[in-house]
Amino acid sequence: MQIVKSILTNNPCYKAGRKISVKGLMLHSVGCPQPSARVFVQSWNGPNYNSACVHAFIDANTGVVYQTLPWDHRGWHGGGSSNNTHIGVEMCEPSVIKYTGGSSFTCSDKAKAQECVKRTYDSAVELFAMLCTMFNLNPMRDIVSHKEGYALGIATNHGDPEHLWRGVGLNYTMDSFRADVKKKMENKEDEPMTNDERKKFNALVDAVGTLTKKVDKLEHKMIYSWVDENMPDWAVATVTKLKKKGYLQGDKQGKLNLDDNMLRMLVINDRAGIYGE
Ligand SMILES: [Zn+2]
Repeated sequence: MQIVKSILTNNPCYKAGRKISVKGLMLHSVGCPQPSARVFVQSWNGPNYNSACVHAFIDANTGVVYQTLPWDHRGWHGGGSSNNTHIGVEMCEPSVIKYTGGSSFTCSDKAKAQECVKRTYDSAVELFAMLCTMFNLNPMRDIVSHKEGYALGIATNHGDPEHLWRGVGLNYTMDSFRADVKKKMENKEDEPMTNDERKKFNALVDAVGTLTKKVDKLEHKMIYSWVDENMPDWAVATVTKLKKKGYLQGDKQGKLNLDDNMLRMLVINDRAGIYGE
C-alpha cells in the first residue's frame, strides 16, 4: 500500500485544528464517477471548501492512498457525532457509472467498474488494518460504513459505500470488509513464500545455526575442571598422571580449570618426557 501525504492545509477543517481521540474508522465512497483522488485533493484544498474534509482518499485507478488530514485531526466526513471519534476515508468511484438519483446508478462497463471497486476495497482493507494497529482498535467492533453510522445515529443519512458494491454486482459487505481487515492484521506475511523460496530460506536458517554454534564455541571456550567424560580421551592419561604427581592441584575445590590449549601443551610436554614416567 502506497500512502501519499497530501494534507489539505487550506481547507477550513484543517485550519480549525481540532484533535480527536480516535475511537473508530468510517468507510465512505465519494458518490460520483470520479476515480482520481488527485482531483478531490485539488478541489477540496481551498478556503471556500468549508463543508467537508476527510482523512484520506483512495484512488480507484491505482489504489494509492492520499492522506489529506493528520489521522488524529477532527474531520468533517460523517456529520453527527462520528466526526468527534472517527477517522473518515473516501474510496473513489469508477468513471463508467452514471448516477440517476440518490444512490442509484447505471454502469456502462461492469468489468471495469468491478476492477476499480476491487482495487479501492483492497487498499481500504490494508489502510484500515494499519489504522486499527496504530490506534489499538478492534476491527470487528470499531469499523463502520457511513450507512451504518446513520443507523447508529452518529452520521448523516447516506448509503455509502454499500450502494456502490451492490450496484456493480460485487458481494462485498461491511461484515466481509471487517473480516478481511482482521485477517490482514493477523497475517503479517503479505505474500506467502513459494516452495523454492521456502527451501532456500530454511537452508539459510540452518547455515546461520551452524555458524552460531561455531562462534559460540570460540567465544565460550570449553573449560575442563575434572577428569570426566567431558575431557578429551587423548588428555586423560597425562592429566591423571600430573594430578597423581601433585603437579596439577586445581583450586580449593580441586577444579582444574584447563582449556584446550593448556591440555595440548601438557600432553606435548608429557610426550617429550618432561614430567617423567
Ligand atoms: Zn459518506
